[in-house]
Amino acid sequence: MCGIVGYIGKKEAYPILIKGLKRLEYRGYDSAGIALLNNGLSIYKKAGKVSDLEAVVGGATFAANIGIGHTRWATHGEPNDRNAHPHISQSGDLAIIHNGIIENYASIKEELTKRGYTFRTDTDTEVLINLIEEVQKKENTTLDNAVRIALNQVVGAYAIVILNKNNPDQLIAARKGSPMVLGIGSDEIFVASDASPIIEYTQNVVYLEEQEYAVINRNGSYTIRTLGNVEKSPEIIKLEF
Ligand code: GLU
Repeated sequence: MCGIVGYIGKKEAYPILIKGLKRLEYRGYDSAGIALLNNGLSIYKKAGKVSDLEAVVGGATFAANIGIGHTRWATHGEPNDRNAHPHISQSGDLAIIHNGIIENYASIKEELTKRGYTFRTDTDTEVLINLIEEVQKKENTTLDNAVRIALNQVVGAYAIVILNKNNPDQLIAARKGSPMVLGIGSDEIFVASDASPIIEYTQNVVYLEEQEYAVINRNGSYTIRTLGNVEKSPEIIKLEF
């Protein structure tokens, strides 16, 4: 279980993500990656250290205030650049980061392959994002509802965050068997595997509970529902570091 960090708000996302990934390095990892959204998705990923990822990004600037970052500990597919996260869906509209294992990925992959999906990586994670895309298409529903339906078909453990190219005002996060915390700022929200990337920005956090997902909006609002589709009233905890 490695690292996840996400940001939505008014600040420049890239430095927050890189700093956050460095704070999560202690968890161990073999590759790192980021996706930023600003008139299209910019994705950079690299086997090795977060500093190797920074070297690949070089002097690029993004002016993006929404993004996701990941450190991977490979379980499905070699630790190389191609298998590093984020992964994108077949249409290119959705980007996902994931810690954990989708145990029934092989049967889902087989079904999706029959429906015309092709896969660029060896990961279970790419299977999950394509399942979500397929459910959304088939059910003609919102992305968050598609995430909920898809996660109900999945066996395994996950902390995921999804970025949607067509909705720069929203992140979706979910967890089962892998921790996830939201940092509630004023007009900004952070999401991470633990509070270490968040603590310098806000002390107010909400821990997602097992089998819950969050829809996180740019204006700082968020809703949390169970995978059974029951809305929760989140408890904000004040961290005292
Ligand atoms: N199972 C995923 C992969 O191999 C995620 C591994 C992780 O937890 O970093 O890419």
